[in-house]
Amino acid sequence: MPVIDLHTHSTCSDGSLRPAELVALAVRNGVDVLALTDHDSVAGLAEATAAADAAEIRLVPGIELSAIWKQYNIHVVGLNIRPDHAGLVAGLARQAEARGLRARQIGERLAERGMPGAYEGALALASSPEAISRTHFSQWLFAQGHVGSIQQAFDRWLGPGKPGAVPMPWASLAEVVGWIREAGGQAVLAHPGRYSMSRTRLRELLVAFVDAGGEAMEVATATEKPDMIQYLARLSVQLGLTASQGSDYHGQPAPWIALGRFPALPTICTPVWSSWSHLPS
Ligand code: AMP
Ligand code: MN
Ligand code: MN
Ligand code: MN
Repeated sequence: MPVIDLHTHSTCSDGSLRPAELVALAVRNGVDVLALTDHDSVAGLAEATAAADAAEIRLVPGIELSAIWKQYNIHVVGLNIRPDHAGLVAGLARQAEARGLRARQIGERLAERGMPGAYEGALALASSPEAISRTHFSQWLFAQGHVGSIQQAFDRWLGPGKPGAVPMPWASLAEVVGWIREAGGQAVLAHPGRYSMSRTRLRELLVAFVDAGGEAMEVATATEKPDMIQYLARLSVQLGLTASQGSDYHGQPAPWIALGRFPALPTICTPVWSSWSHLPS
């Protein structure tokens, strides 16, 4: 069975390994098919593709887009996208501008609460001002001793309802699914178990996602409990969505997650890659 990891991050968003380093680790961990899915960025795909070609593993060009649905911040993974598609590129410019502005606002809010220098600190950890993530702020808060752990940085300062949770003008769910499809990719609802939603709400989200042209949902991810994976598998079958899997590897910001390691996809699922060509067997 090939090892297929379809959700990972590099230094082009909030991961700690450069794209080529991520590919090297994938090779060491026996990963045969790797998708790089940086938040709102395709900047790492050229380097990752070159490294994967040299190492003879398959690199799936991907992305993880931030979107708004109702009051929720939803993530949609795009797989097999064309990174230079004009519509996608224009959409990413909007997301990047919003991200850059938010980083300054988070910095101001933390400064007002006695933590000056957060913006500069987060920027030093990011690859560009438009790539600054809350992860970078959490790393800075931890390094400065303002919090005792990365988790505490989210619980106290960066998570929903906390001072660093600046409302974001992310694109709508339907818009980001549209960008992915126009760029030739498959839209995959990321980590459906992580949105703090009732099961009724989650089903409503999935119906909206299907209506928008969504094709797949993540079912097997590294942090999901076995019961939840079985539940998500049943939902994928009921809604006619194919199923994806991945580690959501970030490296140092989440050291308990290993690249290429997560539970198996339940056999009732149709894998998102079932229609792809040239997969290793
Ligand atoms: P952003 O896209 O800048 O809003 O940052 C979101 C990222 O923060 C996610 O992709 C995760 O990597 C990270 N994150 C969100 N919530 C938590 C949490 N509770 N603990 C650790 N990391 C988190
Ligand atoms: Mn992240
Ligand atoms: Mn995510
Ligand atoms: Mn992710």
